[in-house]
Amino acid sequence: METAPPSWNNEDILSLIVEQTTDMVAIHTFDWVFLYVSPSSRLLLGYEPDELLNKSAFELFHPDDLKKISSHETSDVNDQKIHTITYRIKRKGGGYVWFETTVKPIKDLRLGNELRLITVSRDVTSRKNSEEMVKKFVQAVESASDSIVMANSEGIIMYTNPAIYNMTGYKPPEVIGKHANFIWEGTMDKIFLTSLWHNLREEKKPFNGEITNVRKDGMRYVSDTHITPILDEKKDVSFYVGIARDITKAKEVDRMKTEFISLASHQLRTPLTSMKWRLEMLLKGEEGNINDKQKEYLLNINGTNERMIDLVNSLLNISRIESGRLIIDSKPTSLTDLMLSAIDEVSNKAKDKQIRIIKDFQEALPVISVDPKLLRNVYINLLTNAIKYTKEKGAIEVRIYEDNNMILTQVADNGYGIPKSDQDKIFQKFYRADNIKKVETDGTGLGLYLTKAIIEASNGKIWFESEENKGTSFYVALSRSGMEPKKGEVSITV
Ligand code: ADP
Repeated sequence: METAPPSWNNEDILSLIVEQTTDMVAIHTFDWVFLYVSPSSRLLLGYEPDELLNKSAFELFHPDDLKKISSHETSDVNDQKIHTITYRIKRKGGGYVWFETTVKPIKDLRLGNELRLITVSRDVTSRKNSEEMVKKFVQAVESASDSIVMANSEGIIMYTNPAIYNMTGYKPPEVIGKHANFIWEGTMDKIFLTSLWHNLREEKKPFNGEITNVRKDGMRYVSDTHITPILDEKKDVSFYVGIARDITKAKEVDRMKTEFISLASHQLRTPLTSMKWRLEMLLKGEEGNINDKQKEYLLNINGTNERMIDLVNSLLNISRIESGRLIIDSKPTSLTDLMLSAIDEVSNKAKDKQIRIIKDFQEALPVISVDPKLLRNVYINLLTNAIKYTKEKGAIEVRIYEDNNMILTQVADNGYGIPKSDQDKIFQKFYRADNIKKVETDGTGLGLYLTKAIIEASNGKIWFESEENKGTSFYVALSRSGMEPKKGEVSITV
């Protein structure tokens, strides 16, 4: 072991420590006037030690921290009382650093027998900042309206914020220390719960979805829940974070809305259908001859009535698909035959506008299992739009082809197109683009919403490409395996 050279005495060693340490050592009067400052003031405060001498540290303290710099009693000296204070102190050139300072009052003959303060200060800014950050995080989490739950790798709840009470009826202390299943078990489907944990624990995949559960008081609630396993460096689950929002009310309002639309539409359909019969009878001359003017009026009323029936049907179909009660009745179907029959249905509309429909069907396409009624509705909708939103003498091209194990249907027109600014909203309920509203007042903005809902309920995809005044192509992609059948309760009205 090396020993200090004999010429070194204690004083040398002490001054070496004070001069070299990264902490700032200082001697003050009882009023905090600097009498000695170690060179680390340069690093910590940006001041040369000389610049601080005879200056009161009070000039540098942050105004909000003055109260913390407590005064010292003479008796402290006898008691050898040491204080540790944490406060902000100004750096040369602006800005504050956090200091943690040990203050010891002393009386020393070598210092003129006066009372002095010896301070050792350390920069704790980064620690303070992270403490502040943590404090703010905790405040944010505690006051969040969503329930936030943290559970350890075994699923034991370590923390939950107060919002858990509003959703589940349990206060945080009632659930902390218990397994997360305490909130779930007994109310949730066992198979679902097992697969939920399997996904989280074994697959380490986050869960996002709706959970139906029962509150402490036995009332049902639905939550939109996101659970994420947080992994450590070894990719093992370190803990879980769950965030849940109570959507019981929103779901209920949604259900009532759907029910209302369904009820209202049923009530509207009956009188409209009976008007349709009567009008058809009158038009056929079953109640006697009608003159040209009468015929013109009747045809006009009939057209309006048809449009109302279309609207009511769309509303009914939407309410059916939104309530998740729609039957998907899949059977082996030739998409080209289905398309031909849809084209046939719209051919009069196309003829009226002298629009050509060009067919380009790949040969020997496989027959796939789809619900013909649903897909026909989709096809008719895309064709009707293409005709409606294309000028007279325009052209529509319909292609059906296989690509990458998907069967694609493309309906292309050279019509008005969809302006860029409207493109992200075109599938929204009731949305109609600005350019179209000017040229074609007839329309509900429901067709594409329903079309998309049908395609998505059948695991397919729908999208489009469009350029204003050039034309639009809608694409529907269905996998070779087709639409998965679904029992459901209702089918759509066409
Ligand atoms: P509707 O045709 O009753 O307005 P849709 O939901 O079928 O309702 O269509 C929504 C909107 O999408 C239309 O109003 C129109 O702005 C736009 N759109 C749909 N198809 C086309 C198309 N082929 N060309 C141009 N715009 C289209």
